[in-house]
Amino acid sequence: MTSLTRSAFLRLSAAAATAAAAPAKAQPSPKTVRPLLIKGADVLTMDPKTGEVAGADVLVADGKIAAIGKGLSAGGAEVVDATGHILMPGMIDGHRHVWEIADAGRLTKFHPKGYSTYQEWKMRTIVCLTPEDNHLAGLIGGLQAIDSGVTSLIDFAHGQPTQAQALGAARGLKESGVAGWFAFQLGVSSNYGPGSTVSLEQAHALRIARSTETHWRTAAAIQSEVLSGSGPLQMGLCPSTGLGDPIDLVKAEWTRARATGVKMIAAHIHRPEKPHAVGHVGHRGSGIADLFDAGLLGPDFHVAHGNQLTDEELALLRRTGGMICATAMGEFPYVSAGRGASVHGRARAAGVPAGVGVDVSLALPSDYFEHVRAGFWNLYLEPEGRKINGAYKSEDVLDFATRMGAQAIGLGDVTGTLTVGKRADMLLVKTDRIGFGMLGTLADRVVTFAQSSDIDSVWIGGVAKKRGGRMIGHDFTRLKRKLAEAQARFGPQAQSIKFS
Ligand SMILES: [Zn+2]
Repeated sequence: MTSLTRSAFLRLSAAAATAAAAPAKAQPSPKTVRPLLIKGADVLTMDPKTGEVAGADVLVADGKIAAIGKGLSAGGAEVVDATGHILMPGMIDGHRHVWEIADAGRLTKFHPKGYSTYQEWKMRTIVCLTPEDNHLAGLIGGLQAIDSGVTSLIDFAHGQPTQAQALGAARGLKESGVAGWFAFQLGVSSNYGPGSTVSLEQAHALRIARSTETHWRTAAAIQSEVLSGSGPLQMGLCPSTGLGDPIDLVKAEWTRARATGVKMIAAHIHRPEKPHAVGHVGHRGSGIADLFDAGLLGPDFHVAHGNQLTDEELALLRRTGGMICATAMGEFPYVSAGRGASVHGRARAAGVPAGVGVDVSLALPSDYFEHVRAGFWNLYLEPEGRKINGAYKSEDVLDFATRMGAQAIGLGDVTGTLTVGKRADMLLVKTDRIGFGMLGTLADRVVTFAQSSDIDSVWIGGVAKKRGGRMIGHDFTRLKRKLAEAQARFGPQAQSIKFS
């Protein structure tokens, strides 16, 4: 039924682009919000200097943590009685494809055979999502992250072949109020749409093709039209070149990416099955030494996955200030593909800040505490990890999603701990549920027992995003209905694309 012609589809996309182009709803600015005084919380600061403070108050002013202590007062402040609750830093997700939430459940990692068609699903779906769909997915995806306690993330935005789609995705994410990075994947292209027959080889080549002037214009438009302000969401770039490409080509693209002024260069890194040719990234190991020799590593360089990074490669990342995110739960299947177990334990031991992340919001649970726990269990898959795990305390596990997690997305000075002067990104966690352990350290209790539904409140930059267990300012019934309507349209459209 829904076999739209390509031209009709483009008209529809253009109409939706106009809708998605509307400016993002104004967010309350931290400066306009009155001070906030959280009273009597058990404060899990994740700051090694302060540790855990039972029954303390936290004062927030101008979006930042102004004081942590007992018996604090502040005239005119909004007072929150947090007795019996745990106040902890907002969590950090270092690698997530936010747009995939648009089709959540279409494929799932718990159905590996179905999930094995992931790349085909992606190639069908990205050409069917309108700019408006991308806007909705960015908004819902950002809200879902916040709802689960994630206040900063890297959105690895690799699902937007057109400028209108990319602008829609960036606007939606910004509107959600989540902090971090909208990292636009350069090179995503398409020349087919609903009803098309296209060769699988060609579709793969377009999925991430070489970046063209069109992609650079899109990047510039996102930066100037959506992410130019001083808001908590910044622009990042994911180069189209990397593993397997000639070093000169990689150098030219990465240098141009950095010249735009972005402070986040993110890349998927898997060690190639066999070494690439001399003069190509990935001639040695996972390509880190090749990038190093070309002068392309730096404190803005962010690796996703990198499971098989050697100690030498980790040392190069440490030396140049690089960062890693191992998407704990998502990494498990890579073990059976011979791609090694999650690197985050070894990275941490090597002094490279490492985080965890959801990766495929399409196919994995949204409860972020599950991902944090998976990070720990994952380490048992390798002898080295088992040794590392043996020395951990619960705060070391939580560290991947808070203090070090923030360092691992380049925001260690901004967020990740409850520290005076840092942005007030905070979660208030209820502990009254039967099954939420009452004994142990605060970190023990959170890491072992917490789940998304225990999150009472979330603040980003001191602005409340969730209170009393409910997200603020969005009509979820309406958003979910809109998403269902979109799925009913683009699902069959995606199925109408044939790969030959
Ligand atoms: Zn990914």
